[in-house]
Amino acid sequence: MFQKSITSLFIILFFLILFICIFSIHSETFSGYTKSSNSEFIEDSSFHYSENSIFSWPLFGYYNISSFFGYRISPTSGASTYHSGIDIPAPEKSNIYSICDGIVVYTGFYGSDGYTVIIQNENFIIIYGHVSPNFLVQENQIVQKNEKIGTIGPKYIDQNSNTTYTDSTGRKTNGATTGCHLHLTIKKDGKAVNPLNYL
Ligand SMILES: [Zn+2]
Repeated sequence: MFQKSITSLFIILFFLILFICIFSIHSETFSGYTKSSNSEFIEDSSFHYSENSIFSWPLFGYYNISSFFGYRISPTSGASTYHSGIDIPAPEKSNIYSICDGIVVYTGFYGSDGYTVIIQNENFIIIYGHVSPNFLVQENQIVQKNEKIGTIGPKYIDQNSNTTYTDSTGRKTNGATTGCHLHLTIKKDGKAVNPLNYL
């Protein structure tokens, strides 16, 4: 009798956990990008950045990650999608700081990353996506680690005629984005690496 009720309890717990898992991975897919629609502003993250990192953190006061680096299964299509960096949600106009010394090699609209600043440091390329089109740096400018290089861009960029990205309302978005955040890619020797191994 006692054993039977324990078994029932485990079965109930199993289905409860299964239900929570299915519910929490509900997501939207944008042209190869998968983003959890309800995770943009999660308060708690298991991620804590290291003080002994090679590069510094690009935002002050925003340390949550809404989308991690790498391959993931899209629950809507069942297809595997690739995320070349990490997404750090932050309000529009939040300051973005260079994670390393380097030279600005690109500022402009960069496809799914929206308005973007790209900085090179020797064999590393750092891509800061979904930033404000009011660029604070220009190409060929030398920047220092922790120098302010831009601000978080708006979600909508109605005035940009080049973007092909829109959301469910049909309005033009700053690349493939569901909300204001910094997309950060780190390329080492031309290959995207997990930023969390360097930050
Ligand atoms: Zn991203």
